[in-house]
Amino acid sequence: MRHNRLVINQCLPMPELLHARVEACYQLAEKFFQQPFPRPQVSFRLRGQKAGVAHLTENLLRFNLQLYRENREDFLRQTVAHEVAHMVAHQLFGPRIRPHGEEWQLIMLGVFELPAQRCHNYEVARRQANRFIYRCACPDGEFPFSAQRHRLVAEGRRYYCRRCRTTLQFTGQQRLD
Ligand SMILES: [Zn+2]
Ligand SMILES: [Zn+2]
Repeated sequence: MRHNRLVINQCLPMPELLHARVEACYQLAEKFFQQPFPRPQVSFRLRGQKAGVAHLTENLLRFNLQLYRENREDFLRQTVAHEVAHMVAHQLFGPRIRPHGEEWQLIMLGVFELPAQRCHNYEVARRQANRFIYRCACPDGEFPFSAQRHRLVAEGRRYYCRRCRTTLQFTGQQRLD
Protein backbone atom coordinates (compact mmCIF):
# COMPACT_ATOMS: atom_id res chain seq x y z
CA MET A 1 0.00 0.00 0.00
CA ARG A 2 1.39 3.36 -1.03
CA HIS A 3 1.89 5.62 1.95
CA ASN A 4 -0.91 8.13 2.15
CA ARG A 5 0.58 11.55 1.65
CA LEU A 6 -0.58 14.36 3.85
CA VAL A 7 -0.26 17.27 1.46
CA ILE A 8 -0.58 19.98 4.04
CA ASN A 9 1.57 22.72 5.41
CA GLN A 10 2.44 21.88 9.02
CA CYS A 11 2.87 25.58 9.87
CA LEU A 12 -0.83 26.28 9.51
CA PRO A 13 -2.89 26.73 12.69
CA MET A 14 -5.01 23.75 13.72
CA PRO A 15 -8.40 24.68 12.18
CA GLU A 16 -6.77 25.63 8.89
CA LEU A 17 -4.79 22.38 8.91
CA LEU A 18 -8.01 20.46 9.28
CA HIS A 19 -9.74 22.44 6.53
CA ALA A 20 -6.76 21.74 4.29
CA ARG A 21 -7.00 18.02 5.04
CA VAL A 22 -10.74 18.03 4.26
CA GLU A 23 -10.00 19.73 0.95
CA ALA A 24 -7.18 17.27 0.16
CA CYS A 25 -9.56 14.33 0.77
CA TYR A 26 -12.18 15.85 -1.53
CA GLN A 27 -9.61 16.37 -4.24
CA LEU A 28 -8.55 12.73 -4.00
CA ALA A 29 -12.21 11.66 -4.28
CA GLU A 30 -12.84 13.96 -7.25
CA LYS A 31 -9.78 12.64 -9.02
CA PHE A 32 -10.79 9.04 -8.36
CA PHE A 33 -14.47 9.32 -9.27
CA GLN A 34 -14.00 11.98 -11.94
CA GLN A 35 -16.80 14.14 -10.65
CA PRO A 36 -17.15 17.20 -8.41
CA PHE A 37 -18.45 17.02 -4.84
CA PRO A 38 -19.94 19.99 -2.98
CA ARG A 39 -17.72 20.98 -0.05
CA PRO A 40 -19.28 20.58 3.39
CA GLN A 41 -19.55 23.10 6.14
CA VAL A 42 -17.04 22.28 8.88
CA SER A 43 -17.75 22.85 12.55
CA PHE A 44 -15.77 22.14 15.71
CA ARG A 45 -18.83 21.98 17.92
CA LEU A 46 -18.52 18.39 19.07
CA ARG A 47 -17.73 17.14 22.54
CA GLY A 48 -17.56 13.80 24.28
CA GLN A 49 -16.54 10.42 22.92
CA LYS A 50 -17.00 10.94 19.21
CA ALA A 51 -14.12 12.26 17.14
CA GLY A 52 -16.26 13.35 14.23
CA VAL A 53 -19.80 13.26 12.90
CA ALA A 54 -20.93 13.51 9.28
CA HIS A 55 -24.37 15.09 8.86
CA LEU A 56 -25.12 13.66 5.44
CA THR A 57 -28.17 15.59 4.34
CA GLU A 58 -26.99 18.90 5.79
CA ASN A 59 -23.55 18.38 4.21
CA LEU A 60 -21.99 19.30 7.54
CA LEU A 61 -18.94 17.80 9.24
CA ARG A 62 -18.50 18.23 12.96
CA PHE A 63 -15.18 17.51 14.64
CA ASN A 64 -14.14 17.19 18.26
CA LEU A 65 -11.52 19.88 18.80
CA GLN A 66 -10.40 18.38 22.10
CA LEU A 67 -9.62 14.98 20.55
CA TYR A 68 -8.04 16.69 17.54
CA ARG A 69 -5.74 18.64 19.86
CA GLU A 70 -4.67 15.45 21.64
CA ASN A 71 -4.22 13.25 18.55
CA ARG A 72 -3.32 15.69 15.82
CA GLU A 73 -1.55 13.57 13.25
CA ASP A 74 -3.85 10.56 13.41
CA PHE A 75 -6.89 12.78 13.62
CA LEU A 76 -5.99 14.61 10.43
CA ARG A 77 -5.09 11.47 8.55
CA GLN A 78 -7.72 9.01 9.78
CA THR A 79 -10.65 10.83 11.38
CA VAL A 80 -11.00 13.53 8.74
CA ALA A 81 -10.81 10.97 5.92
CA HIS A 82 -13.30 8.73 7.77
CA GLU A 83 -15.93 11.50 7.91
CA VAL A 84 -15.28 12.76 4.38
CA ALA A 85 -15.71 9.17 3.15
CA HIS A 86 -19.20 9.16 4.71
CA MET A 87 -20.09 12.30 2.75
CA VAL A 88 -18.69 11.05 -0.51
CA ALA A 89 -20.35 7.63 -0.10
CA HIS A 90 -23.67 9.33 0.59
CA GLN A 91 -23.38 11.57 -2.45
CA LEU A 92 -22.36 8.70 -4.71
CA PHE A 93 -24.58 5.90 -3.47
CA GLY A 94 -27.49 7.60 -1.72
CA PRO A 95 -29.10 7.16 1.68
CA ARG A 96 -29.72 3.39 1.62
CA ILE A 97 -26.15 2.20 2.16
CA ARG A 98 -24.88 0.99 5.54
CA PRO A 99 -22.72 3.65 7.26
CA HIS A 100 -19.56 1.54 7.31
CA GLY A 101 -20.51 -0.82 4.50
CA GLU A 102 -18.61 -1.71 1.36
CA GLU A 103 -19.18 1.67 -0.33
CA TRP A 104 -17.61 3.55 2.56
CA GLN A 105 -14.83 0.95 2.83
CA LEU A 106 -14.08 1.29 -0.89
CA ILE A 107 -13.48 5.00 -0.42
CA MET A 108 -11.32 4.53 2.66
CA LEU A 109 -9.18 1.79 1.14
CA GLY A 110 -9.30 2.57 -2.57
CA VAL A 111 -9.36 6.36 -2.60
CA PHE A 112 -7.70 7.45 0.64
CA GLU A 113 -5.55 4.32 0.97
CA LEU A 114 -6.28 4.12 4.68
CA PRO A 115 -7.47 1.31 6.94
CA ALA A 116 -11.27 1.22 7.08
CA GLN A 117 -11.45 1.62 10.85
CA ARG A 118 -14.89 2.22 12.21
CA CYS A 119 -13.91 3.72 15.51
CA HIS A 120 -11.05 5.76 16.83
CA ASN A 121 -9.10 4.55 19.83
CA TYR A 122 -8.24 7.91 21.28
CA GLU A 123 -8.21 8.13 25.02
CA VAL A 124 -11.18 10.09 26.12
CA ALA A 125 -10.39 11.75 29.44
CA ARG A 126 -13.37 11.13 31.65
CA ARG A 127 -14.15 13.53 34.37
CA GLN A 128 -13.37 11.58 37.51
CA ALA A 129 -15.97 11.39 40.20
CA ASN A 130 -15.51 10.64 43.83
CA ARG A 131 -17.36 7.47 44.86
CA PHE A 132 -18.38 6.53 48.38
CA ILE A 133 -18.22 2.78 48.87
CA TYR A 134 -21.14 1.12 50.59
CA ARG A 135 -21.57 -2.53 51.49
CA CYS A 136 -24.34 -4.99 52.19
CA ALA A 137 -24.10 -8.50 53.71
CA CYS A 138 -23.42 -10.25 50.37
CA PRO A 139 -19.79 -11.38 49.99
CA ASP A 140 -19.41 -9.32 46.79
CA GLY A 141 -21.85 -6.61 47.77
CA GLU A 142 -20.17 -3.33 46.94
CA PHE A 143 -22.05 -0.18 45.97
CA PRO A 144 -20.21 2.92 44.76
CA PHE A 145 -22.42 5.86 45.70
CA SER A 146 -22.25 9.31 44.18
CA ALA A 147 -21.63 12.29 46.44
CA GLN A 148 -25.27 13.24 46.03
CA ARG A 149 -26.56 9.85 47.15
CA HIS A 150 -24.04 9.78 50.00
CA ARG A 151 -25.47 13.12 51.16
CA LEU A 152 -29.00 11.70 51.10
CA VAL A 153 -27.86 8.88 53.38
CA ALA A 154 -26.42 11.48 55.76
CA GLU A 155 -29.84 13.12 55.74
CA GLY A 156 -31.46 9.88 56.81
CA ARG A 157 -32.35 8.01 53.61
CA ARG A 158 -31.73 4.26 53.63
CA TYR A 159 -30.82 1.96 50.76
CA TYR A 160 -31.18 -1.82 50.72
CA CYS A 161 -29.54 -4.64 48.82
CA ARG A 162 -32.10 -6.46 46.68
CA ARG A 163 -30.49 -9.83 47.33
CA CYS A 164 -29.73 -9.91 51.06
CA ARG A 165 -32.12 -7.09 51.99
CA THR A 166 -29.70 -5.56 54.49
CA THR A 167 -29.24 -1.82 54.77
CA LEU A 168 -26.23 -0.56 52.81
CA GLN A 169 -23.54 0.74 55.14
CA PHE A 170 -20.83 3.24 54.30
CA THR A 171 -17.41 1.55 54.58
CA GLY A 172 -15.54 4.81 55.07
CA GLN A 173 -13.82 4.18 51.74
CA GLN A 174 -13.80 6.59 48.85
CA ARG A 175 -12.31 6.22 45.40
CA LEU A 176 -12.16 7.98 42.08
CA ASP A 177 -14.06 6.31 39.27
ZN1 LIG B 1 -18.19 6.43 10.69
ZN1 LIG C 1 -26.55 -7.92 49.54
